[in-house]
Amino acid sequence: MNSPKPPFPASLNSLDDLIAAGLAPADQAQDLAQVAERFRIRITSEMAGVASAAVAAQFLPDAQELNIRPEEMADPIGDTAHSPTYGLTHRYPDRVILAATHACEVYCRFCFRREVVGANAALPADDMSAALDYIAATPAIWEVILTGGDPMSLSPRRIESIMARLSDIPHVQIVRLHTRVPVVAPQRIDAAMIAALRARPTVYVGVHTNHADELTPAARAALRRIADAGIPMVSQTVLLRGVNDNAATLETLFRALLTLRVQPYYLHHCDLAQGTSHFRTTIAAGQAIMAQLRGRMSGMGVPTYVLDIPGGFGKVPIGPDYLQQGAAGYVVTDWQGNQHIYRDPE
Ligand code: SF4
Repeated sequence: MNSPKPPFPASLNSLDDLIAAGLAPADQAQDLAQVAERFRIRITSEMAGVASAAVAAQFLPDAQELNIRPEEMADPIGDTAHSPTYGLTHRYPDRVILAATHACEVYCRFCFRREVVGANAALPADDMSAALDYIAATPAIWEVILTGGDPMSLSPRRIESIMARLSDIPHVQIVRLHTRVPVVAPQRIDAAMIAALRARPTVYVGVHTNHADELTPAARAALRRIADAGIPMVSQTVLLRGVNDNAATLETLFRALLTLRVQPYYLHHCDLAQGTSHFRTTIAAGQAIMAQLRGRMSGMGVPTYVLDIPGGFGKVPIGPDYLQQGAAGYVVTDWQGNQHIYRDPE
């Protein structure tokens, strides 16, 4: 990591804030104003203070976002196609996504929900009640995933009250919070937040982080506080061109996460959100990186590379494939690229 920058305000929420802080070039103000009109801007002081191009690219607006390609969509993973009540997505039988808030501590420039984040803050009480009633009336729902928006941008009191409602529903066994907060706003992980997370039912935290430069000393301390509270953590990372699209960068991130007791879980292929083509790699490039990772580190640190099929058809692993059916049996490729034959017993 490079040396830190001087302190910034707690949160920078507009293009003017960024220009005043020297984080956006004044001579591009006209183009960037068009970006800001379309997609919200916010960066925390924690991330603004990291002198890293890989971090800046994720949060600072770029005129390339004005390039909306025909294949890009407002709702690339099809949340609304599977929404029984406002704020709830029920795509798979055993789990739902509950968008408890549309607010985030940062607005990531590649976000697949960039058209909706920041629109209204917390889910209105009536919609929250309707969502919880639906969950209570649907016994197949075993897991509730709080996302949004970033659920940890809510107050601990609000999180605790959602947890309390969910703990009254016997078939809900797991609650997972997907969040950027421990990394981008680590000061929010205080005793009250930990207490809210320790409520029943079993809670997992899914930490979104894309580069080891994000893991500041304060972020690492926040992750340790969560782990020390006995709350299991997994990570999700988005594969981003120019940010983390090489095996060495991802290896550094995944090794750091393992030492912080965060299990690397998903590497997402960058979704077809509008104005994000400059971040997107090819799937072949992603598979090549995954193949290199497999040889460089233990399987414990290698996440599953996944694609959310555009249109709302769900998430699938996208390789690389190590096993193919051949005439003489299976052809298995090892981590060095050598092929071997494996036959099932008769
Ligand atoms: S924190 Fe998550 S939901 Fe919010 S803008 Fe970033 S990627 Fe999107």
